[in-house]
Amino acid sequence: MKIAILSANPNLYSTKRLVEAGEKKGHEMLVINHTKCDLVIEKKKPGIIYKGEEITNVDAVIPRIGASVTFYGTAVVRQFEMMKVFSATESQALVRSRDKLRSLQILSRAGLGLPKTVFSNYSKEVSGIIDKVGGAPLVIKLLEGTQGLGVVLADNRNSAESILEAFNGLQARVIVQEFIKEAKGADIRAFVVDGVVVGAMKRQGKEGEFRSNLHRGGTANIIELTDEEENTAIKAAKSLGLGIAGVDMLQSARGPLILEVNSSPGLEGIENATGTDIAGQIIKYLERNVE
Ligand code: ADP
Ligand code: GLU
Repeated sequence: MKIAILSANPNLYSTKRLVEAGEKKGHEMLVINHTKCDLVIEKKKPGIIYKGEEITNVDAVIPRIGASVTFYGTAVVRQFEMMKVFSATESQALVRSRDKLRSLQILSRAGLGLPKTVFSNYSKEVSGIIDKVGGAPLVIKLLEGTQGLGVVLADNRNSAESILEAFNGLQARVIVQEFIKEAKGADIRAFVVDGVVVGAMKRQGKEGEFRSNLHRGGTANIIELTDEEENTAIKAAKSLGLGIAGVDMLQSARGPLILEVNSSPGLEGIENATGTDIAGQIIKYLERNVE
């Protein structure tokens, strides 16, 4: 097969590992910077120009589209789909997953566990919102945040009110969420490929930190998921239509609660923590879907 990885940076661990895993199976691997592709749209003849040349005969693409270039990146993925190329992540699913709120709504409809969450249009009724999630302590999250930045723990009602008022005053969109204390500063990431959990790790925040992000100094270890956790991760990926997903969950007294589903999950943390060849699993998924 000829497999293209859509990545703005060929030097990233994930990109390099996918190239390596594909070549090991005898595939021709190329890395295409989606931000530098031109899309040619005409009657029944969609095309993509990259570095002055038309891209042809690609059998499958693996999108590794950063959140900041979702709009253009998904247009490129869609163009490949128009050219009847199989995409490891469907363009529509990619768009859906990038809207955190819409994703939570879909997961809720699918009957999956979620921390109780309130979103409002800069409502001045902050007190009522605080009550809705069971009072303080509670978590306030910038809708656009990543890597744990923009996630704030408000210990008491007073600080919750003033933080909410501050964000509202800045017209920064936030969600307000019940604080899951039992998670003890840890979360779990289940890596799902083609409806199967191929690896799972538990991330623990550093001492005194409720956020477990590796970027915030957290550490990761391999973990055996319960059946409920495994089923939740698989259902979450399925309900969002993702062939590849990093499902982040909190372990709570009422079972797994989904925090978010990542459509471009990194390979470094999970491969190191689990010692599993996840890149190889992604290549196998493509092989199953392309003649
Ligand atoms: P980001 O997308 O920026 O990583 P998350 O929503 O995943 O933001 O939150 C970052 C971390 O904060 C999580 O990995 C988890 O450890 C912790 N956290 C987030 N929400 C809650 C919550 N409602 N209760 C307890 N801990 C939480
Ligand atoms: N984009 C990275 C990922 O999905 C974030 C790092 C992390 O949360 O581990 O893995």
